[in-house]
Amino acid sequence: MDHRARFAVDCLHKQYPEPDRLPEDACLVFVRDRGVCVRKGSTKDSTPTIFQTAFPDLPGELKRDELKRDELNRDARYLGHRGAVACYAVEVPGDLPLPEGLAYSGVRELAGLVPDGELAVAALAVQIVDYDRTTRFCGRCGAATEPVRTERAKICPSCHRIAYPRLSPAIIVLVRKGGSILMVRGGGAAPGRYSLVAGFVEPGETIEDAVRREVREEAGIAIKNIRYRASEPWPFPDSLMLGFVADYDGGDAAPDGVEIESAVWVDRDHLPDLPPQLSLTRALIDDWMAGSAASAASVASAASGDPAAGGDASGDRGSSPQSSSQSPQSSSQDPGAQAGSTKDGEER
Ligand SMILES: [Zn+2]
Repeated sequence: MDHRARFAVDCLHKQYPEPDRLPEDACLVFVRDRGVCVRKGSTKDSTPTIFQTAFPDLPGELKRDELKRDELNRDARYLGHRGAVACYAVEVPGDLPLPEGLAYSGVRELAGLVPDGELAVAALAVQIVDYDRTTRFCGRCGAATEPVRTERAKICPSCHRIAYPRLSPAIIVLVRKGGSILMVRGGGAAPGRYSLVAGFVEPGETIEDAVRREVREEAGIAIKNIRYRASEPWPFPDSLMLGFVADYDGGDAAPDGVEIESAVWVDRDHLPDLPPQLSLTRALIDDWMAGSAASAASVASAASGDPAAGGDASGDRGSSPQSSSQSPQSSSQDPGAQAGSTKDGEER
């Protein structure tokens, strides 16, 4: 399945050990809360960017006397190299006024404003700063941790516990039954807003176990033929979305009444509004739509006696879940969003 993951970082490569000191030509991504600073283009037609120069041209309030070089060295978190230039995330205090030309933006709001590659780096920067913020002290003994220079990790100098960035794998699955797909609506979702079954993988589960369990728990049905389709980082704050397609294998669609208040089969002519942006949810649905269109064409051509047209159109039956409807808006892909629940109380 062809899916471009918006938050997959492909313009940075990591070089370890990372530099001892912030290089003179380093570029910085300033992070505040869960967003980044964007520099507007210097001319009307130039593209805004999240990348700022470290030295010596920090503008206005962000220049050296505010974020001193030593503090930058201490606080900058290596993201990777962009070509030959080392790239870092730096947390900016919330009360620091932004100079002219810089504006603060949440990551999702950057879509379409900055180049696609920068959108992914912005999400990574926010994620790494959050990781840094939440691992300043050892979770086992409470001592202050130190960054490791040879990999993305923090180590406790006292008990040697290592803390890596947390990733929370989550599954999303398009379940097919005849010409329809399963869509669910969370108790907290807006009216008419449907999504695919999604949820977090739990300890002790294979990913396929998680797919089966989530569909059973949320919709009360059994599935078979679970097939992996695509993945994407979903850094709000730290999910990795794994997309699957599966086939119905029994039971009546019955919402759990707690997390899910409605579970329905929807055919291609009755899909809810599709999400505006390219998400894994949307990609799974589009893939199914394309497959069901191909199947219809195949049936039509078979009926008309044209052998060339049939091909293996039904072929996608096994692997291509394409489209359908749901109403996954921007957040409907968040695995906990159906019920408005969150993991660790954070934005999902
Ligand atoms: Zn420790």
